[in-house]
Amino acid sequence: MPSVGRAAVFFGPGKPFEIREVPLPEIEPDAVLIKVSLANVCGSDLHFWRGDAPLRLPEDGWIFGHEMTGRVAKLGRNVKTDSLGRPLREGDRVAYTYFYPCGRCYVCLNKQPAACPAKIERPRGPSEFPHFHGAFAEYYYLRPGGALFGVPDALSDELVSPVNCALSQVIFGLQEAGLRFGGSVVIQGAGGLGVQAAAVAKDMGASTVIVVDQLPGRLELARAFGADHVINVKEVAERKERVTLVRKWTGGMGADVACDFVGFPQVIPEGIEMLRPGGAYLEIGTISRGAKVELEPATLVWGAKKIVGVIMYDAAVIPRALDFLVRNRTRFPFDRLISHKYPLEQINQAFSESEWHNRETTKISRAALVP
Ligand SMILES: [Zn+2]
Ligand SMILES: [Zn+2]
Repeated sequence: MPSVGRAAVFFGPGKPFEIREVPLPEIEPDAVLIKVSLANVCGSDLHFWRGDAPLRLPEDGWIFGHEMTGRVAKLGRNVKTDSLGRPLREGDRVAYTYFYPCGRCYVCLNKQPAACPAKIERPRGPSEFPHFHGAFAEYYYLRPGGALFGVPDALSDELVSPVNCALSQVIFGLQEAGLRFGGSVVIQGAGGLGVQAAAVAKDMGASTVIVVDQLPGRLELARAFGADHVINVKEVAERKERVTLVRKWTGGMGADVACDFVGFPQVIPEGIEMLRPGGAYLEIGTISRGAKVELEPATLVWGAKKIVGVIMYDAAVIPRALDFLVRNRTRFPFDRLISHKYPLEQINQAFSESEWHNRETTKISRAALVP
């Protein structure tokens, strides 16, 4: 084992990442050191980078990033298997969580680990043990209590890297919103999350998947990912007309589930209106604190509708996400989800180009860093 690894350290919005050599940690008996193969620039990473939310960073910066996959570099003394009890060896490819429900709070005790308020670390710098806190580095330190799973040979790193963030979150979200076999779904926003949600919904047995966006390139991709109908809000400019279309395609009543994968809360009232009575609205997209929307609560009451908020997922979703990919890897064009690849050293370019692509192009863009 080498004694150091490289990491991209973030010093705050508007400042460049700096590549630093960071000491490899002493591995605790129940921890695992992972050599990162691929680390994606997720939408929430761009929020931090841009400075959308106030952040208190340590003086020595922050190593962040969370959507990734890698290989076991070193197993802690007590770790012999993955989280499903299957033998695990150094060098094995793995998918893993990046958050740590505490197991010792009211929420965890009520078996809702994904909602544990203590599951996410505050930003930590490279000088603090275990040094490798995030994906944008050569290594990631999976702390004791983190879940990890062997990855089937059939899946490339490019397919596996979105599993521990985007894919598992949409699977968990659709489950939490109560999507069932034969159900109908409206997906607002055909970005990375939205198109994966379309594919997951089809795989879960949804009869009707409707995707709403304003960019033709994204809507075309949504169709390739299983959407039965798409609505371009630029072409169908009236909200009333869009709601009418959804009702028409869902047997007159509206959809069982509607989801915000847009990230602009202004879309939420329309999504709720597209629901059938008794339907559920899944809120995942709007993560920026302070963003507000005007809502008429009586539409929830008289429509007996509910809003379900989801952040992250239960670890048990990861192996299901991997199985989903094995089952569907030729059915949907997952290879189109990662658009650009950069060596870790070009992380500044990766972020600024991702930002540009998001703003200026109609295609989905997801940059992947190769440490
Ligand atoms: Zn993410
Ligand atoms: Zn907890």
